[in-house]
Amino acid sequence: QDVKKVDLHDGINSTLVLLNSTMGNIEVIKTYGEIPMVECLAGKINQVFMNIISNAIQALLEQGSINKNPVINITTSSNDSSVKLEIEDNGPGMPEHVKERIFEPFFTTKAVGKGTGLGLSIVYKIIENHQGTLDVFSEEGKGTKFVIILPIYQKTPRNE
Ligand code: ADP
Ligand code: MG
Repeated sequence: QDVKKVDLHDGINSTLVLLNSTMGNIEVIKTYGEIPMVECLAGKINQVFMNIISNAIQALLEQGSINKNPVINITTSSNDSSVKLEIEDNGPGMPEHVKERIFEPFFTTKAVGKGTGLGLSIVYKIIENHQGTLDVFSEEGKGTKFVIILPIYQKTPRNE
């Protein structure tokens, strides 16, 4: 895998196509800005989208009939040096004691066999390797938002 210029909207769109059959009645609202191509490892960044969006789907469907209008909002924007990606769901959210542990390898709240607890620790590592930042905002009963900021140009490309 090499660092190359990538259209992140393509990556998000392909991830959504792969997940489409698992989405039930979830509505996906895309608010795409005019973002530049970003130098990154395309496969790794697609893994980030897959892990975050599949968690959102699981959280929304776990709510079952409680939430009749499950929505995933995906918003992109940029400035001169970086691109911002926001992935937000209106699912159950997380209590503080869960939120503070989600990036730990093997931490999961899912039933045995349903979750490995590795998804977000992998996401964290990939974003770190791209000199980006990852933030999470979550409120119980309201939902969860992941915010990724990626530099447009890679200073020291990492390939691991
Ligand atoms: P896994 O999905 O295998 O449990 P992850 O590392 O992907 O492992 O996620 C860790 C935990 O973070 C999940 O078990 C869940 O408790 C919490 N989590 C992640 N995304 C969301 C979300 N969108 N809404 C609510 N909880 C979430
Ligand atoms: Mg997961």
